[in-house]
Formats: sequence, structure tokens, C-alpha cells
Amino acid sequence: MMIADDFISTEHRLGAHNYQPLDVILSRGEGVWVWDVEGRRYLDCLSAYSAVNQGHCHPKILAAMIEQAKKLTLTSRAFRNDQLAPFYEEIAALTGSHKVLPMNSGAEAVESAVKAVRKWGYEVKGVPEGKAEIIVAADNFHGRTMGIVGFSTDPDARGGFGPFAPGFVIVPFGDAKAFEKAITPNTVAFLVEPIQGEAGVIIPPAGYFTRVRELCTKNNVTLILDEIQTGLGRTGRLLAEEHEGIEADVTLVGKALSGGYYPVSAVLSNSEVLGVLQPGQHGSTFGGNPLACAIARAALKVLVEEGMIENSAAMGEYFMAGLKSIRSNLVKEVRGRGLMLAVELNAEAGGARKYCYALKDLGVLAKDTHGHTIRIAPPLVVKKEEIDWALEQFDKVLTKEV
Ligand SMILES: *Cc1c(COP(=O)(O)O)cnc(C)c1O
Repeated sequence: MMIADDFISTEHRLGAHNYQPLDVILSRGEGVWVWDVEGRRYLDCLSAYSAVNQGHCHPKILAAMIEQAKKLTLTSRAFRNDQLAPFYEEIAALTGSHKVLPMNSGAEAVESAVKAVRKWGYEVKGVPEGKAEIIVAADNFHGRTMGIVGFSTDPDARGGFGPFAPGFVIVPFGDAKAFEKAITPNTVAFLVEPIQGEAGVIIPPAGYFTRVRELCTKNNVTLILDEIQTGLGRTGRLLAEEHEGIEADVTLVGKALSGGYYPVSAVLSNSEVLGVLQPGQHGSTFGGNPLACAIARAALKVLVEEGMIENSAAMGEYFMAGLKSIRSNLVKEVRGRGLMLAVELNAEAGGARKYCYALKDLGVLAKDTHGHTIRIAPPLVVKKEEIDWALEQFDKVLTKEV
């Protein structure tokens, strides 16, 4: 039997070193809990970057997956399958969308939206060919493909990977005036996260998105909200846009759209934007396959029927209050919305990573991000007792030397 060190050394020897994971080798998960190869149990406070909002190995999603896997898994879009239409119907009704484009990874949904809004710009808005501009926010995270890393402001994400595609304009996040100034007659879209997750759970100032929405409408600019991380209950609402009282023209979802079983993403839009795509102009072999659609239907169903969104709102508030009540001079700020939480440590703390290791030793898995921030995002099925227990561990780690 391989022991933890063997897994680590084999990964190190054979794998590309594009991640620096915590040294815990997980082999089983159920709800909010995961177990390592040595049988130790941990409370998952990352949820695979919010892909397992419904909890690990949710039995109803599993049942839907197994049932569908026995019947039909992949047809390609050359033929139709009997899961795609019901998936469209259910996700459109739930999110109030008029058109749906199914893809696989989150990055593919972003790339697909970029293609669609450019085409919309030329064909509907009347932007001269080749001149479309898309505004994005500084410190964005939208994925890892070539098109996307080209408009990242993170030197690690883009360094060494150029040349990049032109047509993107970067403005500071949370600054509506800067966004307004960047709009030109050739602007086709503003692509932005409602809360910047990878940047460290950065919540924009109140009123920012109301103003952004007004400016987009006034200037005929498509508002694309990347809700791949914030969506599907993470912030205590189905979509984070609801906190702002606005509606995007294009919404991107992924991650929890499958409850962690399978890569499923989607572009959701008004009829105009996705309406520009004609046969042969975009596609994906796996996008919209019956297995993915069956899984996504079950993942959405349990999210709503089992009250996970309401639980996220209630437990998020409870968790945040608990974190705020920890008396520690290491903590600069506790922030969050729903169960998308972060503890930002001050500079003297010496980085968040060692605290994540200390938490791991106590049975809590959380991820450091951007040096000084511990991100906390448990599955949305987390219960009060589990949060109480987690808070005790956070208290230990943040109030004594580690
Ligand atoms: C994770 C994420 C993506 C990329 O999704 P992948 O499935 O990893 O390609 C895009 N946008 C946001 C906001 C994300 O959190």
C-alpha cells in the first residue's frame, strides 16, 4: 500500500508542478467531510473552489449519474439526446435566462461568452470588424486558457505565455468611474466577477454594480457576470447578482453545476447574445452530453429542494459572526457573503499558508490565497455544530503561536 509520502514523491516525480497542494492525500468524501488515506477526517472548508456546494458524493446526484451512465453517456451534438432539452428548461426557469449554451469547464464558458459578445458586437451593435473591446477588472480570475490569461493581471498566470489576444481593457475592480471612462463606442462587454474569489474574496463597494448596470444599459454594453464561483448558492442567493438587485445580460456558471461529479458549465444569456451563434460557429464534443445534463439537473434540484441556498445564507452569517468574535491580533479583517468567507491576516502573521497547515493538523482544510488570506467555503450543507467545531479550531490556530 502506498503511504502518504509515496503519493507525494510520485506526484513530484511524474506530475507537472503547476500546483502546490497541502500535503493531504484524500480518498473519500461525504457531505462536508473528507478522509485521507490514513483514515483521518477533515472538515472541507474549500469545497473544491465551490464545485462541491452540494456536499461530497451527494447521494441523489450520484443516483442520477449512475442511472444515466447505464443508459447513454455521449452522443455529441451531431445528434440530439433526451437530457438536453429538460436541462435547458430547468436551468432557464431557475435563473430566468432565455438562452443556454452548455460547455464543460468554467474557462470554456468564459471563452464562449467572449466569442458570443464579440459576434454580437459586430452583428447587432454595429462595431467595425476587428475592433471589439471587452472591459475586464484588475485582479480578475476567469480561468487558465490562452484567451483568458491574456487579460489577467497576475504575473504568475500570464508570465511566459504570450503573445496574447488583443481587445481587452483592464480597469480597477469596484470603481464605477474608471469603468465609465473606459467605455468607447467599440465596447461590447464588461466581464466581471460579482465578488472576486481568487483575489481573496473581494467584495465591491455598495452601489457599484447598480451603477455598472446603468452604464452598461446606457452604452449598449453587455454585462457578463462570471458566477462560476459565486453562483449556485455560494453567497446565500442562487446568484450573487441578487445581492446587488441587478440582472446580468450573460451569466456564467460552472463548478457546482455538477455538484463536483463532472465538469459542466454553461453560458446563460438573454436571447440576443447567444442568438448570434449559428450552426458550425461554436461547439464542444462533450458540451451538452446526456451524462452531464442528467448530473446538472440533479445538482440544481438538490440545491433548491434541500434548502442549501437558505442554509448558505444562515450558516454564512453564523460562521462570519463566529470568526469575527475570535480575539486575535493576527486578524486584519473577516469578510464574506453567505458561505464565501475570508480571514485576512495582517503582515506580521507571516502569510496564511502556515495557518492552513496548522488547521489541517486540527482537521480543517482551508486554502490560503494571495499570501495573507485564508479562504473559507464549506459545502452549503454545513450545520451549526460543525461550524462551532470549526470555529474552535480557528480560535486555536489564530490565538496561539503556530
Ligand atoms: C474556477 C473559476 C473559473 C474557471 O473554471 P475552470 O472549471 O477551472 O476552468 C472561472 N471563473 C471563476 C470566477 C472561477 O472561480
